[in-house]
Amino acid sequence: MSETAEEHEAHEELEPEVEVEELDPEVVAQRDAALSHVRKFGDPILKTKARPVKEFDEALRAEIERMSGLMNDALGIGLAANQVGVLNRVLVYRVHGQAPTAALVNPEIEWRSSEEEIAEEGCLSLPHVHVEVERPVHVRVSARDGFGDPIVVEASGLEARVIQHEIDHLDGVLILNRTSREQRKEAMRALRERQATLATG
Ligand code: ZN
Repeated sequence: MSETAEEHEAHEELEPEVEVEELDPEVVAQRDAALSHVRKFGDPILKTKARPVKEFDEALRAEIERMSGLMNDALGIGLAANQVGVLNRVLVYRVHGQAPTAALVNPEIEWRSSEEEIAEEGCLSLPHVHVEVERPVHVRVSARDGFGDPIVVEASGLEARVIQHEIDHLDGVLILNRTSREQRKEAMRALRERQATLATG
């Protein structure tokens, strides 16, 4: 998931982040390099359900490391394995700049609040698309860490939103499937125009 202007405003005090216009050219180059490893809209892997992880081994921990590095370099706040071409139920996120990156393996939402909230979301796989998505404000999620030890996360607000967004990816669901028909149509048009521009150079 990528940070949006609206969320940035709402979480300003929690996440003092540089504005995109002020980014260092080196940071921009690093971001673009990371984004080139992220699967984009149209890739069938984004519509595919990821498989539960069975082996909690070095390879899994290396995959978590790689995903964390790509997410941070891409200036994202969450990333699911499908987005980097791996169909394992693994997600990483880091909602606040100072926090360490969290990794959840085989995450399951055990409880969602009935209270829901609408907020704008972006996605590293859908460049320049921002749509409103309604989601429960609070969730409790059970998962495993890279060593197979159980974790329980009680999350609210942006953290709960990011986790739900990334679990959706693991189920092959995109924010386009979660927004209003109008916003979906608008986003699809923008994506098609962008693909056409890229194709013609
Ligand atoms: Zn996403």
